[in-house]
Amino acid sequence: MDVLKQKIRNVPDFPIPGINFKDVTTLFKDPTAFRTAVDRFVTEYTDRSIDLVAGIEARGFILAPVLAYHMGKGIVPLRKPGKLPAETRRIEFELEYGTDALEMHLDAVRPGDRVLIVDDLLATGGTAAAACQLVEDAGGIVAGVGFLIELSFLDGRKRLGDRPVFSLLEYGADE
Ligand code: AMP
Repeated sequence: MDVLKQKIRNVPDFPIPGINFKDVTTLFKDPTAFRTAVDRFVTEYTDRSIDLVAGIEARGFILAPVLAYHMGKGIVPLRKPGKLPAETRRIEFELEYGTDALEMHLDAVRPGDRVLIVDDLLATGGTAAAACQLVEDAGGIVAGVGFLIELSFLDGRKRLGDRPVFSLLEYGADE
Protein backbone atom coordinates (compact mmCIF):
# COMPACT_ATOMS: atom_id res chain seq x y z
CA MET A 1 0.00 0.00 0.00
CA ASP A 2 1.17 3.55 -0.70
CA VAL A 3 2.91 5.00 2.37
CA LEU A 4 0.59 8.00 2.19
CA LYS A 5 -2.55 5.85 2.29
CA GLN A 6 -1.31 4.33 5.54
CA LYS A 7 -1.42 7.79 7.10
CA ILE A 8 -5.00 8.61 6.11
CA ARG A 9 -7.66 7.69 8.65
CA ASN A 10 -11.04 6.33 7.60
CA VAL A 11 -13.89 7.62 9.76
CA PRO A 12 -17.04 5.59 9.01
CA ASP A 13 -20.42 7.33 9.00
CA PHE A 14 -19.09 10.90 9.18
CA PRO A 15 -20.66 13.43 8.78
CA ILE A 16 -23.71 11.29 8.00
CA PRO A 17 -24.36 7.52 7.95
CA GLY A 18 -22.97 5.82 4.84
CA ILE A 19 -20.09 8.23 4.22
CA ASN A 20 -16.62 6.80 4.77
CA PHE A 21 -14.79 10.03 5.57
CA LYS A 22 -11.12 10.25 4.58
CA ASP A 23 -9.49 12.13 7.43
CA VAL A 24 -6.28 13.72 6.10
CA THR A 25 -5.38 15.45 9.38
CA THR A 26 -3.43 12.31 10.33
CA LEU A 27 -1.35 12.63 7.14
CA PHE A 28 -0.83 16.38 7.55
CA LYS A 29 0.37 15.81 11.12
CA ASP A 30 3.09 13.38 10.05
CA PRO A 31 6.14 15.39 8.89
CA THR A 32 7.48 12.75 6.50
CA ALA A 33 4.11 11.98 4.93
CA PHE A 34 3.25 15.68 4.60
CA ARG A 35 6.57 16.42 2.91
CA THR A 36 6.21 13.41 0.61
CA ALA A 37 2.72 14.51 -0.45
CA VAL A 38 3.80 18.09 -1.11
CA ASP A 39 6.91 16.95 -2.99
CA ARG A 40 4.81 14.73 -5.25
CA PHE A 41 2.54 17.67 -6.08
CA VAL A 42 5.49 19.96 -6.73
CA THR A 43 7.06 17.35 -9.04
CA GLU A 44 3.79 17.05 -10.95
CA TYR A 45 3.38 20.78 -11.45
CA THR A 46 6.99 21.91 -11.90
CA ASP A 47 7.53 23.22 -15.44
CA ARG A 48 3.79 23.68 -16.01
CA SER A 49 2.57 27.09 -17.01
CA ILE A 50 0.69 28.31 -13.93
CA ASP A 51 0.06 31.88 -12.71
CA LEU A 52 -2.01 31.26 -9.56
CA VAL A 53 -2.88 28.49 -7.14
CA ALA A 54 -6.52 28.46 -5.99
CA GLY A 55 -7.32 26.58 -2.77
CA ILE A 56 -10.81 25.30 -1.96
CA GLU A 57 -11.92 25.93 1.65
CA ALA A 58 -11.16 24.29 3.98
CA ARG A 59 -8.67 21.48 3.47
CA GLY A 60 -7.50 22.90 0.15
CA PHE A 61 -6.24 25.82 2.24
CA ILE A 62 -3.67 23.52 3.83
CA LEU A 63 -2.19 22.36 0.52
CA ALA A 64 -2.52 25.39 -1.77
CA PRO A 65 -0.20 27.77 0.12
CA VAL A 66 2.60 25.21 0.39
CA LEU A 67 2.44 24.48 -3.34
CA ALA A 68 2.19 28.17 -4.23
CA TYR A 69 5.21 28.93 -2.04
CA HIS A 70 7.27 26.18 -3.68
CA MET A 71 6.23 27.27 -7.15
CA GLY A 72 6.67 30.98 -6.49
CA LYS A 73 3.01 31.79 -7.25
CA GLY A 74 0.20 33.68 -5.53
CA ILE A 75 -2.90 32.17 -3.93
CA VAL A 76 -6.60 32.68 -4.58
CA PRO A 77 -9.04 31.51 -1.88
CA LEU A 78 -12.27 29.83 -3.01
CA ARG A 79 -14.43 30.23 0.07
CA LYS A 80 -17.70 29.18 1.66
CA PRO A 81 -20.44 31.84 1.30
CA GLY A 82 -20.20 35.08 3.23
CA LYS A 83 -16.50 34.88 4.10
CA LEU A 84 -14.89 37.03 1.41
CA PRO A 85 -15.08 40.78 2.09
CA ALA A 86 -15.15 42.33 -1.39
CA GLU A 87 -17.45 41.66 -4.37
CA THR A 88 -17.80 37.97 -5.20
CA ARG A 89 -19.28 35.54 -7.69
CA ARG A 90 -21.06 32.51 -6.17
CA ILE A 91 -21.70 29.02 -7.56
CA GLU A 92 -23.99 26.57 -5.77
CA PHE A 93 -23.55 22.81 -6.14
CA GLU A 94 -24.48 19.39 -4.71
CA LEU A 95 -22.14 17.43 -2.46
CA GLU A 96 -21.83 13.70 -1.80
CA TYR A 97 -23.77 14.81 1.29
CA GLY A 98 -26.01 17.92 1.10
CA THR A 99 -25.51 21.12 -0.90
CA ASP A 100 -22.93 23.86 -0.65
CA ALA A 101 -21.61 26.93 -2.45
CA LEU A 102 -18.25 28.52 -3.23
CA GLU A 103 -17.38 32.16 -3.75
CA MET A 104 -14.44 33.92 -5.36
CA HIS A 105 -13.58 37.60 -5.41
CA LEU A 106 -14.54 39.12 -8.76
CA ASP A 107 -11.04 40.51 -9.29
CA ALA A 108 -9.11 37.48 -8.01
CA VAL A 109 -8.54 35.97 -11.45
CA ARG A 110 -7.91 38.07 -14.55
CA PRO A 111 -8.74 36.98 -18.10
CA GLY A 112 -6.03 34.64 -19.36
CA ASP A 113 -4.65 33.74 -15.91
CA ARG A 114 -3.66 30.07 -15.74
CA VAL A 115 -4.95 28.70 -12.45
CA LEU A 116 -4.12 25.47 -10.61
CA ILE A 117 -7.07 24.49 -8.37
CA VAL A 118 -6.25 22.38 -5.29
CA ASP A 119 -8.40 20.43 -2.84
CA ASP A 120 -7.88 17.45 -0.54
CA LEU A 121 -10.38 15.09 -2.12
CA LEU A 122 -12.34 14.48 -5.33
CA ALA A 123 -15.63 12.70 -4.67
CA THR A 124 -18.56 13.43 -7.00
CA GLY A 125 -16.72 16.40 -8.51
CA GLY A 126 -19.39 18.98 -7.67
CA THR A 127 -17.08 21.13 -5.56
CA ALA A 128 -14.22 21.08 -8.04
CA ALA A 129 -16.56 21.71 -10.99
CA ALA A 130 -17.90 24.80 -9.19
CA ALA A 131 -14.32 25.95 -8.53
CA CYS A 132 -13.47 25.53 -12.23
CA GLN A 133 -16.58 27.46 -13.23
CA LEU A 134 -15.66 30.34 -10.92
CA VAL A 135 -12.20 30.57 -12.50
CA GLU A 136 -13.54 30.27 -16.05
CA ASP A 137 -16.38 32.76 -15.50
CA ALA A 138 -13.68 35.27 -14.59
CA GLY A 139 -11.89 34.52 -17.88
CA GLY A 140 -9.24 32.34 -16.30
CA ILE A 141 -7.91 29.06 -17.68
CA VAL A 142 -7.94 25.96 -15.46
CA ALA A 143 -4.34 24.79 -15.92
CA GLY A 144 -4.87 21.88 -13.55
CA VAL A 145 -7.05 20.46 -10.80
CA GLY A 146 -5.03 18.63 -8.15
CA PHE A 147 -6.21 16.39 -5.31
CA LEU A 148 -4.56 14.39 -2.59
CA ILE A 149 -7.32 11.75 -2.84
CA GLU A 150 -9.62 10.64 -5.62
CA LEU A 151 -12.58 8.39 -4.84
CA SER A 152 -12.43 6.84 -8.32
CA PHE A 153 -15.68 4.88 -7.95
CA LEU A 154 -17.68 8.14 -7.79
CA ASP A 155 -16.49 9.20 -11.27
CA GLY A 156 -15.89 12.81 -10.21
CA ARG A 157 -13.39 13.21 -13.05
CA LYS A 158 -16.23 13.06 -15.57
CA ARG A 159 -17.76 16.21 -14.06
CA LEU A 160 -14.49 18.02 -14.78
CA GLY A 161 -14.57 17.23 -18.50
CA ASP A 162 -11.34 17.95 -20.39
CA ARG A 163 -9.66 19.88 -17.60
CA PRO A 164 -6.35 18.30 -16.56
CA VAL A 165 -6.99 16.34 -13.34
CA PHE A 166 -4.25 14.88 -11.14
CA SER A 167 -4.61 12.93 -7.90
CA LEU A 168 -1.91 11.50 -5.67
CA LEU A 169 -3.99 8.60 -4.35
CA GLU A 170 -6.90 6.71 -5.88
CA TYR A 171 -9.36 4.83 -3.68
CA GLY A 172 -11.83 2.11 -4.56
CA ALA A 173 -15.22 1.70 -2.86
CA ASP A 174 -13.91 -0.99 -0.49
CA GLU A 175 -10.91 0.98 0.86
P1 AMP B 1 -17.44 16.43 -4.14
O1 AMP B 1 -17.95 17.79 -4.44
O2 AMP B 1 -18.53 15.40 -4.06
O3 AMP B 1 -16.33 16.01 -5.09
O4 AMP B 1 -16.82 16.48 -2.67
C1 AMP B 1 -15.55 16.96 -2.46
C2 AMP B 1 -15.49 17.84 -1.24
O5 AMP B 1 -16.18 17.27 -0.14
C3 AMP B 1 -14.05 18.00 -0.82
O6 AMP B 1 -13.86 19.36 -0.43
C4 AMP B 1 -13.88 17.05 0.32
O7 AMP B 1 -13.11 17.62 1.35
C5 AMP B 1 -15.29 16.73 0.81
N1 AMP B 1 -15.56 15.28 0.83
C6 AMP B 1 -16.48 14.61 0.10
N2 AMP B 1 -16.51 13.31 0.37
C7 AMP B 1 -15.56 13.11 1.31
C8 AMP B 1 -15.07 11.94 2.00
N3 AMP B 1 -15.57 10.71 1.76
N4 AMP B 1 -14.07 12.12 2.87
C9 AMP B 1 -13.54 13.35 3.10
N5 AMP B 1 -13.95 14.48 2.50
C10 AMP B 1 -14.95 14.37 1.61
